[in-house]
Amino acid sequence: MLGSLRLLQPTSIAEASGALEELGDGGKIYAGGAELLLLMRHGLLRSEILIDVKNIARLHRLAWDGQGLRAGACVTHHALGTAPIVRAHAPSFAYAESQVANVRVRNQGTLGGNLCFNDPHSDPGTVLLVHGASVTMGSRRGERQLSLDDFFLDMYCTALEPDELLVEVQIPPLPAGMKSAYLRLHRYQRPTLGVAAAVKMNGGTIEESRLAVGCVGPRAQRLGDIEVKIKGAALNEAQRIILEQKGYFRDLLRPVDDLLGSSDYKLYMTGVLLARAVAGALQGSGNGDI
Ligand SMILES: Cc1cc2nc3c(=O)[nH]c(=O)nc-3n(C[C@H](O)[C@H](O)[C@H](O)COP(=O)(O)OP(=O)(O)OC[C@H]3O[C@@H](n4cnc5c(N)ncnc54)[C@H](O)[C@@H]3O)c2cc1C
Repeated sequence: MLGSLRLLQPTSIAEASGALEELGDGGKIYAGGAELLLLMRHGLLRSEILIDVKNIARLHRLAWDGQGLRAGACVTHHALGTAPIVRAHAPSFAYAESQVANVRVRNQGTLGGNLCFNDPHSDPGTVLLVHGASVTMGSRRGERQLSLDDFFLDMYCTALEPDELLVEVQIPPLPAGMKSAYLRLHRYQRPTLGVAAAVKMNGGTIEESRLAVGCVGPRAQRLGDIEVKIKGAALNEAQRIILEQKGYFRDLLRPVDDLLGSSDYKLYMTGVLLARAVAGALQGSGNGDI
């Protein structure tokens, strides 16, 4: 059970940052609470003061600004999975959001909480890497931007400074002519594996691709080396190349055996799902759960 808690409800980024600075380890940012309260209930994290950021209006904004989507840190998974602007401009991201956990967690959990917690078994970050997303972080000192790739440091570890909060995620559209897919494998509520692929063909061969994998390693990763290897390949050739990359996946992702699967199984399925995602993206049938 949880002990007594004090809840601060700042209405600005500066106020929330000030509370973080004053309280140090004694205060924790609280958004949906899906992860935070679970950890506290199990005694894995102690905090007597929660800084509830849901009263900061800017963190709830979800808009298309003409160049990309801008999603405030407190926008929920449910909102992102169902909003027409997200479905129109980033359909695979909307799909990934619609698959997170269950309806309770999707209504409670926020994009910001998901990215800041940086649990390896997460969905949104993998697709956002393929979109080349960036994040805005804010504090009393001002705001700064970072690519999502640089924001994710390691499992449960991000580039946030102790007095900073995540404010917004910027999601550019994919380049013209590029189609995308997100596929995930799950045995329990959290995914065992998630892959995102975005592909542009030209005259029967791959002109450009973006590939990412999540859940298998400590953090979601872009697969730049494979993107280079499949450039200029026909679809079946690209799939063959992807299926041969087990050694590369092992070195890059450093998977471990756990309740979600053995490391060998995860590596094998990474190739299988990526090959399917590349084909699925092109056929417009690339969103699915297995
Ligand atoms: C049963 C279960 C199943 C799940 N399944 C999936 C799944 O299938 N796929 C998936 O992707 N995820 C899954 N999750 C994770 C879920 O998506 C996250 O729990 C949720 O998104 C976290 O958001 P929150 O708003 O509840 O964060 P909170 O629990 O409020 O916060 C999480 C962490 O982030 C910090 N934080 C939150 N917001 C900010 C901010 N704006 N700035 C700085 N720090 C911040 C908090 O201090 C805390 O450390 C699952 C979770 C549960 C409990």
